[in-house]
Amino acid sequence: MNNTPRVTVWNEFRHERNNEAVAAIYPRGMHETIAAPLRAAGLEVATATLDEPEHGLTEARLEATDVLVWWGHRAHAEVSDAVAERVRRRVVDGGMGLLALHSSHFSKPFMGLMGTGCFLKYRVAGETERLWVVDPAHPVAAGISDAIELEREEMYGEPFDVPPPDELVFISWFKGGEVFRSGCAWRRGLGRVFYFRPGHETFPTYHDPRIQRVILNAVRWAAPPADLRPPVRGRREPLEPLG
Ligand code: ZN
Repeated sequence: MNNTPRVTVWNEFRHERNNEAVAAIYPRGMHETIAAPLRAAGLEVATATLDEPEHGLTEARLEATDVLVWWGHRAHAEVSDAVAERVRRRVVDGGMGLLALHSSHFSKPFMGLMGTGCFLKYRVAGETERLWVVDPAHPVAAGISDAIELEREEMYGEPFDVPPPDELVFISWFKGGEVFRSGCAWRRGLGRVFYFRPGHETFPTYHDPRIQRVILNAVRWAAPPADLRPPVRGRREPLEPLG
């Protein structure tokens, strides 16, 4: 465990500039609301957004990032393939953690790491979501008792078209009847990926201290060990004489 990972919070940052209702909830952008409690916990946190050069994710920025938090929705297609591949490689070969939030299930980096269609059902009706902790001993559930109830959220429903998660931490129930695997963990190469479902832009979900706690836990869980070294690969001479 690395308790002081360097974090970059990436946000598409379009809804906040185009939609007054979203701007009222997140006046400085969702990335700043997500970053603030991580900073308060003592982590070093940078932010990056879609409209910056290279979407703010230069080689140098990623090299200085232990965990990348990603929120995207409408503009997934505007993320360049080169930057998406740079993120994927940094996870697989560099051990960077990726925390994919809400509609980032369709983001290029997450889809590239999953290798599946990542489809799901959805409905924006402002209904109750109850996120049940199904693995109480998991570090991502630390400090959360039994369940988190969100009064108003978007519904996501199964089947969620992802590979079976290596670890499942939350399952959501929605008032309309659907269920969803809302906290899923995978290992990919040297890196770790966590998907956390809540966070539709028209609801104040990222202001909720319980959601902020899960995000902090997930960032710490996804961070590479401080002493991670690249593995030895490729052709090798034998260590002992073979003859
Ligand atoms: Zn949404």
